[in-house]
Amino acid sequence: MHPSVTGEFNNDNQLERVVTWMADPVMGDKMAEFRWSDYRDVGGGVKMPHRLHSHIGDHPLIPGGHNFLDLRISEIKVNIADAAQAVPDAVRNAPPVTTNRVVATTLAPGVVLMGGGSHNSVAVEFKDYVTVIEAPLDQQRSLAVIAEVKKTFPNKPIRYVVNTHNHFDHLGGVRTYVAEGATVVTEERNRNFYQRVVLAPQSRSLLPDRLSQRPFAPTGPGQLMVQTFSDHHTISDGQQIVELHYVEGFNHSDNMAIVYLPKEKIVINATCTARRRRAATCRSSAPTPSRSNRNIKRLKLDVSQHVPIHGNPDRMQISNASSVRLRRQRHRWVAGVKVARVEA
Ligand SMILES: [Zn+2]
Ligand SMILES: [Zn+2]
Repeated sequence: MHPSVTGEFNNDNQLERVVTWMADPVMGDKMAEFRWSDYRDVGGGVKMPHRLHSHIGDHPLIPGGHNFLDLRISEIKVNIADAAQAVPDAVRNAPPVTTNRVVATTLAPGVVLMGGGSHNSVAVEFKDYVTVIEAPLDQQRSLAVIAEVKKTFPNKPIRYVVNTHNHFDHLGGVRTYVAEGATVVTEERNRNFYQRVVLAPQSRSLLPDRLSQRPFAPTGPGQLMVQTFSDHHTISDGQQIVELHYVEGFNHSDNMAIVYLPKEKIVINATCTARRRRAATCRSSAPTPSRSNRNIKRLKLDVSQHVPIHGNPDRMQISNASSVRLRRQRHRWVAGVKVARVEA
């Protein structure tokens, strides 16, 4: 379905407000509003607005939305020469983004990295079911990963999908897994938002997904969609074990969980990315790697492999020496310089 677009004009026939809707994997039908004001003469009989204000995300369940743009323009000139910018080659020739390419890589027996895109998931096989760590992006990505999980572990249902934190790029696929019959396992502070907004029975007219097309009974127990924990949580069938730990002091997100597989000594972490044979690095908005290490030490996790949600997995030594190197590396990253290598 195409969204409606409403425009409002003032008595001088100047456009003041446009309201429309966008499809969002987390929020569903999401309102976007743009307001233009402060119209001034810019010459040639033309008047242009010198202020643009926008906000998105109004939702029947969480009104108010989110201001994302407030632009005040000091000067507008019309008809200046060579004003149009050429599209850079890197943009013109960029390959289309394919979210449904999944490359499965076995990390350990029964533990398979579902990579091939911008965000990873990890499928862990249990005796009677599968647990998937992270449901990023959207339904399209999730359906592709789920198909690969079914191919890798035939005849086993996906019982749990673990969500490391509530950023939308890590959350957009959880509805697809719930429609598949899985329960979302996440940190306690996510419960309200996930139950009331993300997984709430609501129509999605712009881009209906599988969950929105399912008939909901407002009475009755329904499916257990969300299971939360506050400090740690273990998924185990006596053979395979997946531990979830709340991580302290992360500025990337205040409700971040890391996932630990004690048998395989694998840590799955959503904020740090590992690069080739080098030690893991973190994105500029991420916590300091030493804080990540501090949490791993606090939890006394014995780690032989670090698997990021963004980037490729790598061997990672957790030691004082490496944490000092990582700290040095991050400082250079924050300064905006791409780090080519880390000195030993
Ligand atoms: Zn994030
Ligand atoms: Zn992310």
